[in-house]
Amino acid sequence: MHTQQLLAIADSVLLKVTSRPDIIMARGKGMHLWDTEGNQYLDFIGGWAVNCLGHSPQVLIDALHSQAQALINGSPSFYNVPMLEYAELLVKNTCLDRVFFMSTGAEANEGAIKLARKYGIKQKNGATDIITTQKSFHGRTLVTMAATGKPQWETLFGSRLPGFQKAQFNDIDSFRKLVSKDTCAIMLEPVQGEGGVNVATSGFMQALRALCDEHDILLILDEVQTGMGRTGKLFGYQHYGIEPDIMTLGKGIGGGYPLSAMLVKEKLDIFEAGDQGGTYTGQPLAMAVGLAVLRELLDTGLVDHCHKMGEFLKQELAGLAKTHEVENIRGLGLLVAFDLQKSKGEDIVNWCRDESLLINAPQEKSIRLMPPLIISAEHIETLIQKLKGCLAKK
Ligand SMILES: *Cc1c(COP(=O)(O)O)cnc(C)c1O
Repeated sequence: MHTQQLLAIADSVLLKVTSRPDIIMARGKGMHLWDTEGNQYLDFIGGWAVNCLGHSPQVLIDALHSQAQALINGSPSFYNVPMLEYAELLVKNTCLDRVFFMSTGAEANEGAIKLARKYGIKQKNGATDIITTQKSFHGRTLVTMAATGKPQWETLFGSRLPGFQKAQFNDIDSFRKLVSKDTCAIMLEPVQGEGGVNVATSGFMQALRALCDEHDILLILDEVQTGMGRTGKLFGYQHYGIEPDIMTLGKGIGGGYPLSAMLVKEKLDIFEAGDQGGTYTGQPLAMAVGLAVLRELLDTGLVDHCHKMGEFLKQELAGLAKTHEVENIRGLGLLVAFDLQKSKGEDIVNWCRDESLLINAPQEKSIRLMPPLIISAEHIETLIQKLKGCLAKK
């Protein structure tokens, strides 16, 4: 079918949830995507911080192929081989002790919220409140929307689920003020992704850990975007010298295949039979892919490479800032953003796409870059060249 016919289908039968350009992606390899018209794009969105190994990497093709021949789906009521091999390797490489697998980040966070509430009910006299942060993003289920710090979402879909208070990111006093006898947990992202790439400071994270210990409340880190090497360490918490009680993972964990996980400390092995589950928990294809992604991250030095490329990217952006409207360059590893003085983020995104470069504007005046971790210095130089062409001069 021709591109125009396909676009007509999109227009007539897809439920409208977001505006998309008239482009249909057909193929991907490494750092690049190709549309149905054969146009090539250099991809700094990376499937929304998902395709850590790039597009269609051979290790994932192989893992999917061989697992599909052995077993595509067993049943959530039985173990399977990749589930157990993967669970052991994943847990071994974190500060946590047990894991539960799901398919999306929102589900992993929903699981974390359920577990924290269970903990509060059992061990803290029924405390079920959770303090989250303004500008946070935790997902699009009703509960994770309530946890998310977007003012626009407060009244969307009727009355919001109660039990979430919003503190200010990087402001420990705002958390102290909100802690009460009803608090069971504090939940946040080490680097707020959708909120514009706001990096938590070490002092703040350490004070949060101490606050949680003092009041016997759980620290939940939503590492859906920051986990799996994205920040230049395998997990975001490793930048801070602290350990969470619960960590959620998504996005990069499956390298493009739907997979998420909730990891917990031993003391939180408190779900009773029937409390938690899911048709696709530990689904063999997802497990085989997750295992392949993790092995690749551990065995190839990719996380270190991400750190180095992230530093190079920030340095090149700092060079660009001398002559162009770039300011507030921030981020960790390959989760990087900057602000624009004059232009609108959306205009820059559209201009770059016409120039075969894919970038993202998480806020009206900022640009976010979250390329595959396999990126090379040449790709970063190409990005800078293209940005020079469209950003206003100082
Ligand atoms: C993307 C994201 C989520 C939601 O993940 P989905 O897979 O879209 O449900 C949750 N938390 C953070 C920090 C995210 O970046």
